[in-house]
Amino acid sequence: MSRKTSQTDALDVKTSRPGRLRLVATPIGNLEDITVRALRILRESDIVAAEDTRVTGKLLRHFDIDTRLISHHAHSGQEDIIHLITLLTQGNDVALVSDAGTPCISDPGQQLVRAAIDCGIIVEPIPGACAAIAAISASGLLTGQFTFEGFLPKTNDRKERLAALAIERRTMVIYESTHRLADSLAELAEAFGANRQAVVAREVTKLHESFIRGTLAECAEHYKAEPPRGECVIIIEGGTGEVPERPAEVAVETLLLDAMLAGKSTKEAAREVANKTGLGRRELYAIAVKLQPDSDVEEG
Ligand code: SAM
Repeated sequence: MSRKTSQTDALDVKTSRPGRLRLVATPIGNLEDITVRALRILRESDIVAAEDTRVTGKLLRHFDIDTRLISHHAHSGQEDIIHLITLLTQGNDVALVSDAGTPCISDPGQQLVRAAIDCGIIVEPIPGACAAIAAISASGLLTGQFTFEGFLPKTNDRKERLAALAIERRTMVIYESTHRLADSLAELAEAFGANRQAVVAREVTKLHESFIRGTLAECAEHYKAEPPRGECVIIIEGGTGEVPERPAEVAVETLLLDAMLAGKSTKEAAREVANKTGLGRRELYAIAVKLQPDSDVEEG
C-alpha cells in the first residue's frame, strides 16, 4: 500500500489485518550502509515515524522515497503512542526510524514497541547500522561478552554507575558526546585505573573515521590535547572483578616529588602522575602545590 498523503490528509482505514511496526536501522554516517531491505520497507510502508522528520526527509529524498512522514521522538507522550497504535490497528504499516542507527538503541521507540507488543501488533526489526556494534567490532578488545551502557548518567547516579562498572569483567561500550570526551575519559581512568585499555571510535563510517587505542589515561590526554569533533563511542576492556586500587596517597606524593625533583613544574608533574595513576589532574596539582615549599600558582 503506497498511496501518499500529506500529514493532514485523512488516514486510510484498512480493516483486513493490523499493520506491522518495522524498526528500520538507517546509516550512522555513510549512506551506502542502508540495506536493500530497509529501502524496500521504507518505500512500501504507509507511514514513516521519524525522530526528526527533517533529518529523515533528507534520507528519503536521497533514495527517492516519498512515504508519508510523521514525527515520533523522545518527548512524544502517550497520546502520540496511542495515535500510532491506532494507525497500526487500522492496518497501516509503520516504519520507525531514528536520526541514525538502530531505533530504540539510545534512541526513541522503546515505549512504542512495548505498546505495540501489548496490543498484539507484529514488531519486526530491519537490522542495519548501530554505532555500538560497529565500534566494538573493530575495537580489537574482547567481543565474546560485552555490556552496552548507552550514555552514562549525568546526575548523582554517575559515581555509583562508575563504581559498578569498575568491577565489570566484560568489555564495556559507552556512548559519549565529543565535547565531554576528554573529561569523561579522565573520570573513567580515575574510576577504573589509568592502565585499563580503551578504544575511542570516532566518526565511524564517515570521512574522518578514527580508532584511538591506548590506556584510559592516554586516551584522555590525547583528546585533552586535541579536542575532538563529531560523534564517538568509548570501548573499555573488562576488569578483574576487583575494586581497582587507588594509589596510596604517600605513593602519589612520592611520584609527584620525583617528577618535580626531575625538573618538572607542579603542572607538568600533576599531568605526568595523572597519566600514570588515572587520578584527576586538578587533585594532583593541589597535592603538588602543597609539596612545594614556595608554591607557584599555575592553573592546573
Ligand atoms: N541508535 C543509534 C545507534 O544505533 O547507534 C545511537 C543513537 S545515540 C542518540 C547517538 C550516539 O551514538 C552518539 O552520541 C555517539 O556516541 C554514537 N554514534 C552515532 N553515530 C556514530 C558514529 N558515526 N561514530 C561514532 N559514534 C556514533
